[in-house]
Amino acid sequence: MPPLTLTQLSNSTFYISSPSNVGVIIYSSKAILIDSGNNREAGRQILKLLKERDLELSLIVNTHSHADHIGGNEFLQKRTNCRVAATSVESNFIEHPVLEPTVLNGGFPHIRLQNKFLMARPSRVTDILLNSGKISETSLTAVPLPGHFLDMIGVETVDEVLFTADSVIAEEVLEKYHLNFLYDIKSHFKTLEIHKQRENSLFVPSHGNPVGLDLFRGLVEYNEFKLNENIRIVLDQMTKKQTSEEILAQVCRYYNLELNANQYVLIFSTVRSILAYLLDEKKVEVLYTEGQMLWRRL
Ligand SMILES: [Zn+2]
Repeated sequence: MPPLTLTQLSNSTFYISSPSNVGVIIYSSKAILIDSGNNREAGRQILKLLKERDLELSLIVNTHSHADHIGGNEFLQKRTNCRVAATSVESNFIEHPVLEPTVLNGGFPHIRLQNKFLMARPSRVTDILLNSGKISETSLTAVPLPGHFLDMIGVETVDEVLFTADSVIAEEVLEKYHLNFLYDIKSHFKTLEIHKQRENSLFVPSHGNPVGLDLFRGLVEYNEFKLNENIRIVLDQMTKKQTSEEILAQVCRYYNLELNANQYVLIFSTVRSILAYLLDEKKVEVLYTEGQMLWRRL
């Protein structure tokens, strides 16, 4: 991992650009982190950056529990005894990281899935957050961003910077991979709709560069466009009764995607979430026959 650096965004708001961006809020020689980087090495480098500035780490606010957002938690908490805050359901995954590959796999996660990309080391959540409103003993506000995972939040600072977690994905990432991990499609559409009304001066997605209001609105539109495209492709390819695995394979052929073990469970999960959404929208039906679950377009 190349050396990480601290970049100032406004008065007291900084961020560390890394594969998963980390927000840093500085107040009276203390620091609060928004997420902790994608792995233990990120945690080590973050602590070094804070120490160089004589900053004491008081709290990590985790936007959600995915391994690439909590990867530095364990190292940082062990070294500093900092508090860790997350919403209730996400805190279960942070304290018991085997839940992430378990949920993705829908059964015991085989050995290829028990890796640092899907399973961080456990850390202790000291503060359970509500998904909206003031985060106690801080100047920060939690903003609900449902859709990407069970109860993801964004974090807004007093100087109107909004850390948007994985609610929007950078255009270059979507152009390359076409689909990203999504848990609840209907809620995600609502989150994107609310994003269109936001007036913050600066937005920091977890993956990609900070953007101003105009670029953010374009990014939201592009994320919505790609999700609608994903849904259309699932429907268009469904010409006969099919299993969800066959539908996944068709989507991969369409986009020319080759999936490794981690990508397979992540993208398959998104495809199953799209099918659940389409069933709720009465666009498809599901049939159980001869030990198979088959999807058919209505
Ligand atoms: Zn995520």
